Amino acid sequence: MIERDVVVVGGGPAGVSAAKSAAMNGADVLLLEKYPTIMANKPCGEACSQETLVTAGVKPSHRIVMHEAYALVYSPSMIEIEIKRIGYNINKSFFIQEIAAQAAEYGADIHVREEVTAVKRENSKYLVKTNRETYLAKVVIGADGYNSTVARSIGVTERPEPIPTVQYIMANCKLKHPDAVRFYLGNKVAPGGYAWIFPRTEKLAEVGIGVRGAVAKDYLDAFVKKFSDELGNAKIIDYRGAPVPIGGAISESVFDGVLLVGDAAGHVIPLTGAGIHSSVSAGLAAGKVAAEAVAEGDTSKQRLSEFYKLYDNWLNRIKRSLKAMRAVEVLSDEELDTLARIFQAEDILDLANGLDIGRVAKKLLSHPVLAFKLARQLL
Ligand SMILES: Cc1cc2nc3c(=O)[nH]c(=O)nc-3n(C[C@H](O)[C@H](O)[C@H](O)COP(=O)(O)OP(=O)(O)OC[C@H]3O[C@@H](n4cnc5c(N)ncnc54)[C@H](O)[C@@H]3O)c2cc1C
Repeated sequence: MIERDVVVVGGGPAGVSAAKSAAMNGADVLLLEKYPTIMANKPCGEACSQETLVTAGVKPSHRIVMHEAYALVYSPSMIEIEIKRIGYNINKSFFIQEIAAQAAEYGADIHVREEVTAVKRENSKYLVKTNRETYLAKVVIGADGYNSTVARSIGVTERPEPIPTVQYIMANCKLKHPDAVRFYLGNKVAPGGYAWIFPRTEKLAEVGIGVRGAVAKDYLDAFVKKFSDELGNAKIIDYRGAPVPIGGAISESVFDGVLLVGDAAGHVIPLTGAGIHSSVSAGLAAGKVAAEAVAEGDTSKQRLSEFYKLYDNWLNRIKRSLKAMRAVEVLSDEELDTLARIFQAEDILDLANGLDIGRVAKKLLSHPVLAFKLARQLL
């Protein structure tokens, strides 16, 4: 049986970051990915902040950043709020591959087409069974997405609330705002979520939706119809869906010899559903803690719990954004319109990203309805 210090399961943003960080900190690392390629195997809008690349240690080269984008947010009656802060539309596959390359440079091994089928405790270590091999690992990092096999194998039953999403990549679009990512809110457009148009090029865009309590595809098709001037002659060249864990981080993601990170642990900003940056950060923190724990010969839950300290800033952001989501999800379309009239760009950024939601709440306190319905929940 092959022994490894750290086995990372899953080659998404969280997994490649964990492999890089663990290898960089001196561990003997194996990364296992079930698909034939390390790439964005799951649908994704592929939009992120500039800081995401800084955190990941990836240069914003033309290969990885398809283009820079500002944001436009629309209320139910189409009140537009422009967010001038520039983010990136990235080629997520190249982004993940670049981090995987860095992991390999630090000495990590990477196996594709190798699916982990079960993980089982063996004394103080773990047997990691795959479709090809069985490994003995001192630490397992479960970065295997929402339907995590690692979590299931070790008996974790808590799952963050998912929002089902469907996304088309559409070709031959006539985009009015080719340099902007657009978000559309409202109970008629996307109940419990939002719809988006993220351009890849002038003619190519990711058009998607997340809804709760309704059939996502029906709402996406209605959304596409509504934008017939831009999307009427466009063809769907990619049609996929996936759940996004928006219910906040699971209460425990660290166990004896195991860490869960990324979507597997609900490391997603609830109100936006953005998980690239938070997953990269979680992977980096988990990899560091795992390598140091192995070097010290103590891979207990207590030792690995240092992860919570390193990831504390993100866990707080996730908590605050969840609070904001719970407050916003009960607003009527009229109330969302009122919010759009009051809000400025920085208010949306703070609220959605779980940053200074207290400041936003104070701003709303003087409003007769929103003070009661929103501000109080946020404080
Ligand atoms: C439609 C949609 C749009 C989104 N848009 C954005 C966006 O614009 N910006 C943003 O920041 N976030 C976005 N997100 C969220 C983001 O995609 C995820 O939060 C992020 O990819 C999570 O990374 P991860 O590494 O934890 O998991 P994943 O990206 O899911 O990667 C998990 C990896 O593990 C592999 N795997 C699974 N099981 C096994 C197994 N048993 N053995 C081996 N390998 C396994 C999978 O093949 C996969 O490669 C979007 C999500 C969706 C669904």
